[in-house]
Amino acid sequence: MRILVTGGAGYIGSHTVRMLRAQGHDVWVYDNLSMGHRAAVPAECLIVGDLKDGDHLDHALLIHRIEAVVHFAAFAAVGESVIHPAKYYQNNLVNTLNLMERMRRHGISKMVFSSTCATFGTPERVPLTEDLPQNPINPYGWSKLFIEKALLDYAKAYGWGFAALRYFNAAGASPAGDIGEDHDPETHLIPLVLQTVLGQRPKIEIFGTDYPTKDGTCVRDYIHVDDLAEAHILALGKLQPGSAFLYNLGIGQGYSVREVIRIAEQVTGRKVPVQEGPRRPGDPAELIASPARIMKELGWRPKYLELEPIMETAWRWHQSHPKGYKS
Ligand code: UDP
Repeated sequence: MRILVTGGAGYIGSHTVRMLRAQGHDVWVYDNLSMGHRAAVPAECLIVGDLKDGDHLDHALLIHRIEAVVHFAAFAAVGESVIHPAKYYQNNLVNTLNLMERMRRHGISKMVFSSTCATFGTPERVPLTEDLPQNPINPYGWSKLFIEKALLDYAKAYGWGFAALRYFNAAGASPAGDIGEDHDPETHLIPLVLQTVLGQRPKIEIFGTDYPTKDGTCVRDYIHVDDLAEAHILALGKLQPGSAFLYNLGIGQGYSVREVIRIAEQVTGRKVPVQEGPRRPGDPAELIASPARIMKELGWRPKYLELEPIMETAWRWHQSHPKGYKS
């Protein structure tokens, strides 16, 4: 298939691009490199472009005779979205609607969309199944939920086939060790812990120790980035006119912040200095996916079923790239 991957030079995008190419697809990456990295994708498939630039986007869709779009390009920092909602609504919502409209004009009707567990807000129970109510508690979650809704309407009215994959916590890196997670600034727990192990940070702060969880710290479902990539490719292969796939995507296992730190210590063989701090606003106590639906309907099977092997791949990447792609 001829596929345009927006945000394909980012963390999850680059792993998906590699897998799509390995399966023989004709892949084009459309990325403005504001968050993505040139080195994360093969130079011959990179189009440096912004979703705001409709003419450039049109050109990319037409000249490469694109048949489907895998749409990663978005901002994804929850805290920032609260402080600067305009940035999130403009990019994640307006730019995505523009992309969808360009696709529609060119008769391209297949999309795999990066959604998020943040569309659920604070869940009434875990694990999260798809039938739970979606009540986002931040602009990031809303910007993604609005697109889920628009895609449902496009599927109904225009016969689009789409998948919206609601990621839980993406983690790990390609086992090859040459592509991985590199955000600036870094806000995610696992890279911060590993940077602490490497001596780049003096300590890791635990955001809240008074949650109603097994050890008082937040519990999250960490899913390996290659398992996420695999889910995109499976979904893409099964899209038919009118298909509306909405899936929660995690491994169905929860790890507390303290457990994540302990596993990092085991995997690296080094002690991580820790400081207990207050809660981070907007963090639900526990987010664990039920991946039952995607497993049943698409036959998705994660290769990484526990955090230890996921952490090992992240550690390999951080050791070989202590400064990320700048190393
Ligand atoms: N966290 C933490 N210290 C940090 C960064 C994150 O205790 O320096 C916690 C955070 O409160 C959350 C979990 O680690 O409960 C995972 O956070 P991350 O930012 O990696 O992902 P999120 O769950 O926000 O998508």
